[in-house]
Amino acid sequence: MEIPSMAILRVDHIAVVVPEIDTALAFWQKALGLPLEHVEEIAVQETVVAMMPVGETEVELVQPTTETSGIAKYMAKRGPGLHHICFEVDDIEATLAQLKEQNIQLINEEPVVGAGGKRVAFVHPKSSSGVLIELSESQTVL
Ligand code: ZN
Repeated sequence: MEIPSMAILRVDHIAVVVPEIDTALAFWQKALGLPLEHVEEIAVQETVVAMMPVGETEVELVQPTTETSGIAKYMAKRGPGLHHICFEVDDIEATLAQLKEQNIQLINEEPVVGAGGKRVAFVHPKSSSGVLIELSESQTVL
């Protein structure tokens, strides 16, 4: 099988998990002065996210909305802090195919709908030096 080509375009966002977005904004928005672009509930991921643009990328504050989601358990165990780095890719299917071909452990074998209606998929930190990686396709907004 021929593997389709893929390209990583930029760091789309850097996600920080926080217990409460409103409280976290005291630093990110007030002290640092980052603009708050929008706040969005992502029901399937059981989170609310706040996007704050910084140059060509964004800081994403992620607040769990349940106690049982993966991200809630992560925060309960490790506390607030850096959660994942998201790369924008031109073709998420091609990227996932290429990673599978290299036996990279994926959390999402197929794309799921993430913030902004974009198609996203997560790479397991076991395969990426302990850093949770999100891939987000630039073109498709559902
Ligand atoms: Zn993200």
